[in-house]
Amino acid sequence: MKSEAMILPEVLDIKAIREDFPILSTKVYGKPLVYFDNAATSQKPWPVLKAIENYYTTLNSNVHRGVHYLSQHATDAFEEARRKTAAFINAAHDYEIIFTRGATESINLVAHSFGKAFVKKGDEIIISAMEHHSNIVPWQMLCEDWGATLRVIPMNEKGELQMDVFATLLNKKVKLVALNYVSNSLGTINPVRDIIALAHSHNIPVLLDAAQAIQHIPVDVQELDVDFLVFSGHKMYGPTGIGVLYGKEEWLNQMPPYQGGGEMIKTVSFEKTVYNELPFKFEAGTPNIEAAICLGAAIDYINQVGLDKIQQYEHELLEYATAQLLAIDKVQLVGTAAEKASVLAFNIEGVHPYDTGVILDKLGIAVRTGHHCTQPIMDFLCIPGTVRASFAFYNTREEIDILVAGVKKAVSMLA
Ligand code: PMP
Repeated sequence: MKSEAMILPEVLDIKAIREDFPILSTKVYGKPLVYFDNAATSQKPWPVLKAIENYYTTLNSNVHRGVHYLSQHATDAFEEARRKTAAFINAAHDYEIIFTRGATESINLVAHSFGKAFVKKGDEIIISAMEHHSNIVPWQMLCEDWGATLRVIPMNEKGELQMDVFATLLNKKVKLVALNYVSNSLGTINPVRDIIALAHSHNIPVLLDAAQAIQHIPVDVQELDVDFLVFSGHKMYGPTGIGVLYGKEEWLNQMPPYQGGGEMIKTVSFEKTVYNELPFKFEAGTPNIEAAICLGAAIDYINQVGLDKIQQYEHELLEYATAQLLAIDKVQLVGTAAEKASVLAFNIEGVHPYDTGVILDKLGIAVRTGHHCTQPIMDFLCIPGTVRASFAFYNTREEIDILVAGVKKAVSMLA
């Protein structure tokens, strides 16, 4: 029978793309690596790897404070990365891009600083039922600090938010809505345009956790009219240790610094310190210069491949994989929202996800098992966790066939 894979149009030159990612030709237990743990972290293409080497062999120097040649060039490259990042999400101003360590630090920055500026006893913060722990715990800490209450938009069994309930949660006490664009454990693409419009109709700002969206969906912060957006470099083919906080100028200007130190000041005396302007006000200390510059290289790479094409190709991959897994007896998909990106989570009836993961690992297939830092979702669904395969545009339908064969093997051995 002609496989469905062969009749799908090829929108990307996958062979050439795979050659850009050297780790993909690795063997695991003597078998070709099938890397389906992209939601945890993505692999890095040659242009990013070369940019890392280039930074340390030709540019390494501290930024923003040296008059010497290397420092000026490192500063130029660092600020160029900020410009690339701003252009990538269509921010109105480069200084609305704050470099952080990752999505987690970006959320903590907002929770700390926005909380100090705007939240008081009796106020409310809204999150959703499908948040990563990094978009739950910082808000719980904020609520504890300022005497506020956390409200949660519930979801249904498919992993879709209950928008009618969301509408009833909005009132004058709500100071911020924070939710993910794409769920890391269910793959749900949330209706963020509707959520932002509804929140704004009550003058409530919105923070989007785009850690699982930025590498799959073109994001335009001005078109979305979102107030804050966060993501991590390592999930979008860049290095670890670098993340982004986008914030509208009007909000960032009203918020106090998150950390004190060098870079974030204009003048310091023992009597009084005057803080620096955006974005430096929020970038205390020496930043991860290499990682920021190499995030710029990752953005160049994504732009060169084309996020529209990536989105189309990954969508086809997800549809193909979903149909294959659904056809296996005793396999239950977890997360079946109408709109999904990249993530395919499942369980085998009566089998702990860890056991399935171990069998797949021995076949060279890297999946993630467990609660995926979303314990409230697992509690809601009354399951200990899931097996999660998450796709990137360098994955192929042949690799999905290998996964499907592996899952069938796990079913026959364990179920
Ligand atoms: N939010 C979501 C939806 C995520 O998937 C992750 C990472 N798994 C994070 C936030 C945190 O990202 P990081 O660990 O890179 O800060």
